Amino acid sequence: MNTLTLEKEKIRLQEDNYFTRVGNTPLLPLRRVTQGLPPSVSVYAKAEWFNPAGSIKDRAALNIIQTAIGNGDLPPGKRLLDSTSGNTGIAYATFGTMMGIPVTLALPENASPERIAILRSLGADLILTEASEGPEGSMKVVREMLKEEPEKYFYANQYGNPANWIAHYHSTGPEIFSQTGGDVTHFVAVMGTSGTMMGTGRYLKDQNPQIELVGGQPTKPLHGLEGMQHMASAIQPDIYDVDVHDRIVEVETADAYEMVRRLGREEGLFVGLSSGAAAVAALNVARELDEGVVVTIFPDAGYKYLSNEKLWK
Ligand code: PMP
Repeated sequence: MNTLTLEKEKIRLQEDNYFTRVGNTPLLPLRRVTQGLPPSVSVYAKAEWFNPAGSIKDRAALNIIQTAIGNGDLPPGKRLLDSTSGNTGIAYATFGTMMGIPVTLALPENASPERIAILRSLGADLILTEASEGPEGSMKVVREMLKEEPEKYFYANQYGNPANWIAHYHSTGPEIFSQTGGDVTHFVAVMGTSGTMMGTGRYLKDQNPQIELVGGQPTKPLHGLEGMQHMASAIQPDIYDVDVHDRIVEVETADAYEMVRRLGREEGLFVGLSSGAAAVAALNVARELDEGVVVTIFPDAGYKYLSNEKLWK
């Protein structure tokens, strides 16, 4: 092998290693915030910040890109376009940059400065949309861009692309089932695009229809819980099927904030806001039980929320 071929081979191997690190995240027992629960009730959380680009969305973004490449929807020269509140964009930008795929993202201008800085550092082209219009404003801008230049873009469409939830059907679901030795009784996931709940939930029900699926939701439309969507008032994602989960548990924003602080102080887990919401929802479910194994998802770590002064006071 000449030097150039060797160099190329090395890069290919590094990329392979990086991508194979998506998924297989630890399942952590919560030991202290669970105090007062009966001894036969346990609560676990999947630590999704272990993914290489830092969140649960690595799973969906990688599968969206790989499926599109496989289908011929993302040939060389096309630009990946999507609207994202941050984590999916960070994953697109990470994997896209590695694979030589240019990435354009629309996101609300009030996304946390950390998210915007990370996206810029990964070379993504950003379009910041009106804060007051929320994620829907970003979607509208993306649709207009597609109408104007359809040939230029591959529209990744995380809210409507089945590759989002299928990623979880093939990874998050099987991991949870095997990490609990098949003993999981309740699965609780907060919902944004709903990909995590749709894919993981369907897999778990296919293994055991008795497993109860609980969707976590903010109590109100303007909730400030980044990554989550208030389904009742927002435009519902096309991949969201209300019949997949058995029920919804609502979480107050203030309770999610308080739980983020408790998870840090009591469990040693430095997590993002939606993880706080997930823990509140999971504990509410656990409190109703005499026995059971409740599993939830902690979508990301706290780093992207450091500028939120209210959170860390
Ligand atoms: N929490 C965070 C921090 C997220 O970025 C997302 C993704 N929007 C979610 C929760 C919800 O995940 P999903 O889109 O799979 O419902």
